[in-house]
Amino acid sequence: MIVTFYGVRGSAATPGPLTVKYGGNTSCVHIQLDNGNDLILDAGSGIRLLGHKLAKKSSPVNILLSHCHWDHIQGYPFFDPIYQPDRVINVYVSVESGRMLLNSLMVQMDGTHFPVRAEDLPSFAMPKFKGIESELYEREGIQVVRQPLNHPGGGVAYRIEDNGVRCAYVTDNELDPPHKPATRYDQWVNFLHGVDLLIHDAQYTQDDMPHRHGWGHSLISQVRHLAADAEVGTLVMFHHDPDRTDAELDEIQIENDKYLKSMRAPTRCVCAAEGMQFTLTKPFLGGFTKTDIGSEPVWKLKA
Ligand SMILES: [Zn+2]
Ligand SMILES: [Zn+2]
Repeated sequence: MIVTFYGVRGSAATPGPLTVKYGGNTSCVHIQLDNGNDLILDAGSGIRLLGHKLAKKSSPVNILLSHCHWDHIQGYPFFDPIYQPDRVINVYVSVESGRMLLNSLMVQMDGTHFPVRAEDLPSFAMPKFKGIESELYEREGIQVVRQPLNHPGGGVAYRIEDNGVRCAYVTDNELDPPHKPATRYDQWVNFLHGVDLLIHDAQYTQDDMPHRHGWGHSLISQVRHLAADAEVGTLVMFHHDPDRTDAELDEIQIENDKYLKSMRAPTRCVCAAEGMQFTLTKPFLGGFTKTDIGSEPVWKLKA
């Protein structure tokens, strides 16, 4: 699979000179599966540019939502494939109160909050609440496993395996919440053990605490500790705080390298940036490339 980052920011989109290097779009990760089909993790503002690219294809699109908070759904009305006649969009929401979650994606397109109404779209959106594992296995040949997030309002993490390589997406998750966790730390270690690529929420520094304890996001120091304990191949720190500047993320990167070296952990760690692309094959050595995620809208292309 090829994993590409289109939006790496949490809570609010943050364009501007202080976020040019890592990017300001909210959560969206694209996975091109080995069979050539597409899986999208969350529909934050980053999904807009991805839509330009996917509008050039005709295959069904699979969207897995972690949860319904605004920064994970706000890009959906700007996703080009939903305006393509008969394009199939499979939206998977797998939390038990799923009907509420799905509604948040569609209800934002009610003619008032957005000028186009969901029922007027020419695409064929297929909302799914259950059966994600068997459906994706049968249709795409991948294994998907879910795990509850420690986050206000709930949500799910995903572990995806395609041809023997595994990628986990764990965003909006507080490893050490002030209440009974939906998933304990030792359960996270177990769930993530040995994954090739771990994308994990790393929104806060020690300076953000204790004020933000209980807000549903993790401390950077806790996340790198988890990655070392779970012996993951590569950790990608994700869902950067909107106030975190490029310079601060550069500093965090240096601290992460020092920590993992001192632990003698085999884990590599990078801060997520828009355009970062990992090609996961066995063995996966952790390298990534930068790709240009800006692409020409399909309606501007010459016939
Ligand atoms: Zn979020
Ligand atoms: Zn959230």
